[in-house]
Amino acid sequence: MTFRRREMVEKLKLNGIADSRVLAAFLKVERHRFFDRESQEYAYEDRAYPIGYGQTISQPYTVACMTSLLVERSPAGKVLEIGTGSGYQAAILDALGYRVYTVERISALYEKAEMLFSILELSITCRSGDGTLGWPEEAPFNGIMVTAGAPHCPDSLLGQLALDGSLVVPIGEHGLQKMTVFQRKKDRFEKEVFNDFAFVPLIGREGWN
Ligand code: SAM
Repeated sequence: MTFRRREMVEKLKLNGIADSRVLAAFLKVERHRFFDRESQEYAYEDRAYPIGYGQTISQPYTVACMTSLLVERSPAGKVLEIGTGSGYQAAILDALGYRVYTVERISALYEKAEMLFSILELSITCRSGDGTLGWPEEAPFNGIMVTAGAPHCPDSLLGQLALDGSLVVPIGEHGLQKMTVFQRKKDRFEKEVFNDFAFVPLIGREGWN
């Protein structure tokens, strides 16, 4: 598996992922641990893979793009992920040294991820609930990452960003979103819009119905 992980990282480099901190995290985290035993052979392919309940573990390239956008702007501190899914993205953020909080809407996925974090001895804090509302008790966050497609940016999440903190969120229609970054400045939010991606929907009070 180590060889296959190196191959995955080489492919990420060829596809333009250049941040050495991000590449090191991808080398460190064993992606196959986030797959069921019978599907581990697919763990190092550069594609999304079903994790049950109609959800997916995102493609490594997608995880690497989102992580790079965050690390370049807000390299340290406390990070909130919305959409725990398999737990892989949270583990990548943990490997980068962030203090990671993550919220998952589907309780069965939350329970599985929580168990896995404990087995892997990762100190990631997770809970089940509607992540569009953020985690007000733990705010402010230096980074927030939404790993599901949103119709617009949830105001609650913007409100939980620390000064200079960045929010990475795919925004658009079902099946096609533009990766978008908001960075909190003293008296405004700076907005940047990047490439197209396709995520499962962000469902909740400040997301899709
Ligand atoms: N980050 C995950 C990983 O590394 O495996 C992949 C995330 S998957 C593409 C999107 C996840 O967002 C799904 O598990 C879905 O249940 C979750 N989700 C959708 N709406 C949500 C919400 N309002 N709050 C929390 N999680 C949500």
